[in-house]
Amino acid sequence: MRVTVFGIGYVGLVQAAALAEAGHDVLCVDVDAAKVENLRQGIVPIFEPGLEALVRENHAEGRLTFTTNAEEAVAFAAIQIIAVGTPPGEDGSADMKYVVAVAETIGRLMDEPKTVVTKSTVPVGTGDRIAEAIAEVLEARGQSDLVVRIVSNPEFLKEGSAVADCLKPDRIIVGSSDPEAIALMRELYAPFNRNHEKMIVMALRSAEFTKYAANCMLASRISFMNEMANLAELMDADIEQVRQGIGSDPRIGYHFIYPGIGYGGSCFPKDVSAMIHAAETVGYTPLMLHAVDARNRAQKSVLFDKVQRHFGGNLAGKRFALWGLAFKANTDDMREASSRVIMEALWAAGASVQAFDPEAMSQCQEIYGQRDDLLLCGTKEAALRGADALLIATEWKNFRAPSFDTIRETLTSPLIFDGRNLYDPAVVARYGIEYVSIGRQVAG
Ligand code: NAD
Repeated sequence: MRVTVFGIGYVGLVQAAALAEAGHDVLCVDVDAAKVENLRQGIVPIFEPGLEALVRENHAEGRLTFTTNAEEAVAFAAIQIIAVGTPPGEDGSADMKYVVAVAETIGRLMDEPKTVVTKSTVPVGTGDRIAEAIAEVLEARGQSDLVVRIVSNPEFLKEGSAVADCLKPDRIIVGSSDPEAIALMRELYAPFNRNHEKMIVMALRSAEFTKYAANCMLASRISFMNEMANLAELMDADIEQVRQGIGSDPRIGYHFIYPGIGYGGSCFPKDVSAMIHAAETVGYTPLMLHAVDARNRAQKSVLFDKVQRHFGGNLAGKRFALWGLAFKANTDDMREASSRVIMEALWAAGASVQAFDPEAMSQCQEIYGQRDDLLLCGTKEAALRGADALLIATEWKNFRAPSFDTIRETLTSPLIFDGRNLYDPAVVARYGIEYVSIGRQVAG
């Protein structure tokens, strides 16, 4: 089948590559000309395990192509997937301007029936808005008889395992009441739906809601565990033991109950905010979601607060090694990363940062540019040199079994503040290193 994908970000590019890998012919269109040109030359703009090879192979075989030409993109296929960004607006609502712009483009350029599939995370009711936007343009063109089918098909990939998630999805949510559109989606996703039935067909609004409900649920688990971790500290309990204890209950399970320094990324913070905003527009005060969001905002400062307490509030002139910049492991994405809150607080207190991340160094450079109080280091060991303590903000595998001897010998004082609870406190203590983590010791 032929498919057009609008937006070549984390979602659009990975999904397009997965569809091409399954044998479909996919044309990706983006307004970012540099991105398109790079992709044509095999330069993949984001780090995602397995993505570069998938993109290059499918591009070389002609199934995955890139353009900035919207006319070509709309003419290319009956299925038009929208995967552009839906960033938070100033009031926390999801900003629909890119989605609506694509809908209008499709309406302006189509001259045969189209099935418009929204993969972007969009508030409930957006499918109707897309239909209206296209209908208005078609009417102005005197082409109201052209058939437009609207489908919600939210994306559930996880950054860091996006390729695997798209090639082997847990579920494929299809929201539509149009039998022909549903049949088309079945055909499109048949290669991913062979092992057992993964497609869940529902009403369009329910599909849009499902994506927010899923992300709000996951964010709730994280904020809940962080709240428990903070309490465990004050009550002299060990949250890691508690985690094992509650995770063993199958009604709770072990997934997504790691305590830490808050969730980040381009999805959870914005989707929780957007759901809060959407709830309020229908006259409902979402008490739980407000709490989830508030705990997360506060949690991002917990590690800095511990550092500040430890040094008696005097951080001016201190130097800190920071391991991890990405909002989570296996990605280069620093959007809403806890590392940013930590670095900015350290800088505001007059301290400097020596940072290392296996993938996010160039993002960090792009965000903060050149500054005297930030040194980007080539290795995690280099980041330790002359630093007063090591801070850990991302749970990269590469950080999990470091040489504690090197850490002790390279830091000016043997001290680790671990925002991801990567180590066993007893082991770190054996190496003569002071170790402060989350929810595992009385707040110092
Ligand atoms: P992104 O910012 O990485 O990419 C969006 C792309 O859309 C950019 O390349 C931008 O140039 C392009 N774009 C903007 N306007 C355009 C237009 N008119 N025509 C063509 N291209 C245009 O975004 P993302 O992280 O891929 O997220 C896309 C959507 O998917 C969002 O709604 C997001 O919430 C959702 N989502 C993201 C993830 C994730 O992990 N990143 C997971 C599931 C769902």
